[in-house]
Amino acid sequence: MVVFKCMGCGVCCRLSPITLLPHEVYIVKREARRLGLEVSIKPGYKVYDALSRRLIVLSYHLELDSSGKCPFLTSNNKCLLHGRAKPSTCKSFPYVPKEIHYYVDRSTRTIIHRSVYGISTACLFVKKFSKQIEEAVKAYGIKKVFPLEYSSALEAENWRYWYMRMLTILWRSGLVDLYSVDDEVEVEPVNAYEFILSRIIILRSLLR
Ligand code: SF4
Ligand code: SF4
Repeated sequence: MVVFKCMGCGVCCRLSPITLLPHEVYIVKREARRLGLEVSIKPGYKVYDALSRRLIVLSYHLELDSSGKCPFLTSNNKCLLHGRAKPSTCKSFPYVPKEIHYYVDRSTRTIIHRSVYGISTACLFVKKFSKQIEEAVKAYGIKKVFPLEYSSALEAENWRYWYMRMLTILWRSGLVDLYSVDDEVEVEPVNAYEFILSRIIILRSLLR
């Protein structure tokens, strides 16, 4: 049975901006500072909190550099974050979310998400062994063919659930009042990780 093995071609590091979870932004910035690299990180999906009048950012994108590659990719296709602080999207590649949907339900004060995962055909290994991969996935399932990638995806999903769960708890405790936002709103964005931690401190003090 074929088992995924990265060929180190670096194709996935040149494809598109890299999705980051909110807490990963701090790690990536810290590593960029340590390595003396310039990085540009832009907000992705946001929800609006009417109480703090801020946009809570639930995902970010690490932009590719001017030469069209991830700033952490070296000229010989090595990842400078490998083994220390690689974003979960990179660790799960080529098993990646094709779509992530967020649902903000004001009637029950609940926010949830749903991720739809798939195998990226941009990956060199996937291209090379597409037939064998298809057969092995059919016979043994994704988990057996992409074991490390599957567990990294699971880890990322657990984090996404954590963000959804914490915002739902804060909402039901009256500490946020969430709205989905379809268009750009001119208010200050805040990282969801930082925001949730600050509100947990308030929630704890209220429960004492
Ligand atoms: S962080 Fe590493 S694995 Fe991820 S895109 Fe950049 S160089 Fe590639
Ligand atoms: S495209 Fe696939 S084989 Fe190439 S570096 Fe990325 S994960 Fe590895």
